[in-house]
Amino acid sequence: MSTTASEALFARAKQVSPGGVNSPVRAFRAVGGTPRFMASGSGAWLTDADGNRFVDLVGSWGPMLLGHAHPEVIEAVTAAAARGTSFGTPAEPEVLLAEEIVARTPVERVRMVSSGTEATMSAIRLARGFTGRDRVVKFSGCYHGHVDALLAEAGSGVVTLGIPGTPGVPAHVTADTIVLPYNDPAAVDAAFAQYGDQIACVITEAAAGNMGVVPPQPGFNAHLSKACAEHGALFITDEVMTGFRAARSGYWQIDGATEGWQPDLMTFGKVMGGGFPAAAFGGRAEIMDLLAPVGPVYQAGTLSGNPVATTAGLATLRLATPEVYERLAATSSQVQKLVTDALAEAGVPHVVQSAGTMFSVFWGVSTPVTDFAGAQAQDTAAYTAFFHAMLDAGVYLPPSAYEAWFLSAAHDPEVDSAPLSRLAEALPAAAR
Ligand code: PLP
Repeated sequence: MSTTASEALFARAKQVSPGGVNSPVRAFRAVGGTPRFMASGSGAWLTDADGNRFVDLVGSWGPMLLGHAHPEVIEAVTAAAARGTSFGTPAEPEVLLAEEIVARTPVERVRMVSSGTEATMSAIRLARGFTGRDRVVKFSGCYHGHVDALLAEAGSGVVTLGIPGTPGVPAHVTADTIVLPYNDPAAVDAAFAQYGDQIACVITEAAAGNMGVVPPQPGFNAHLSKACAEHGALFITDEVMTGFRAARSGYWQIDGATEGWQPDLMTFGKVMGGGFPAAAFGGRAEIMDLLAPVGPVYQAGTLSGNPVATTAGLATLRLATPEVYERLAATSSQVQKLVTDALAEAGVPHVVQSAGTMFSVFWGVSTPVTDFAGAQAQDTAAYTAFFHAMLDAGVYLPPSAYEAWFLSAAHDPEVDSAPLSRLAEALPAAAR
């Protein structure tokens, strides 16, 4: 497989961008080798600058629910762009997208932003403004974007690169961040016992997906919701990754909707932008209406609710019918079974974990992973060997053992036999 064009682009990129990338995990630091510079995508497939084709199991880290360049999304986006790319005024597409989000989730009001990071940052500001309190509880291994106060013990690129602390974030900025072990209700109770009247909010990934996929234990999110309600704190579920992906409305549909609790605020991103920079946070009207211009909590954005981005998101969500989620769930189960059967046969200890249609594989562990310490116990070297064997075989996996694998509605293991047959071919690489 030639990588000449990717290597040349990477060398040039390093001259003008730190590490040659615009988001750290893309640089392949954890797995080594040259990152592939992608030139185009279609359905389940990516083509790199050298013309190599890959079955894509990253899906732009979650947004590409329908696969790449879905014809109807491209048609809608092209028409929207031709009408003008940004007005700095309200416009119809953002209203339609907000209505779709309100219809699918328990939130009553939505504010659009441009990234998941902005969504969580703004949700926390709003929670602090609403409660008049400063402290924020988060969980080890959960990643909520690169918000200063939330970078403590974060997953995703922070754990992939083994960044020990958060240089550049003053200590006083994280002084109000309480980091607790994930899936540990007793630790939550202890934090509330000590700081109950100072805690503005608890933020958690609705199902953790940034230390690999670690779903909440049954009742854990319900416990957080109850503890927050008892102490006057807000419960924020971060559905940037899981929203409109784990299930039609997100992980809440699998958890809160059946267990009978609702978050006070939710954050969304990825799928709702259909591959464009669009994200949002939302919640009950009485909380959301504290935002400017109705209330005093300031929050704004030049490109927030951008007409092209919101058109892409709306087209994606409208095409994401219940049948799409059924199909995605079936494909996801099929690929999980394939992986686990082949790994078992190759004698590689592993655990496959899922949250709705999302899943990931933990290497070299043999019991379910329930927290960050468990996730960090995995054998990342085995994953690295597997990753490269798969890449050489034409399957693009996340370049880190700590990331979820994302399928799309365009993946069809029956037709693209690659994910099926090539997984089995690549597995011996991991059996060291
Ligand atoms: N929250 C979660 C759960 C995420 O997975 C991510 C990104 O991966 C973010 C927030 C940050 O989103 P963005 O990368 O769009 O800033």
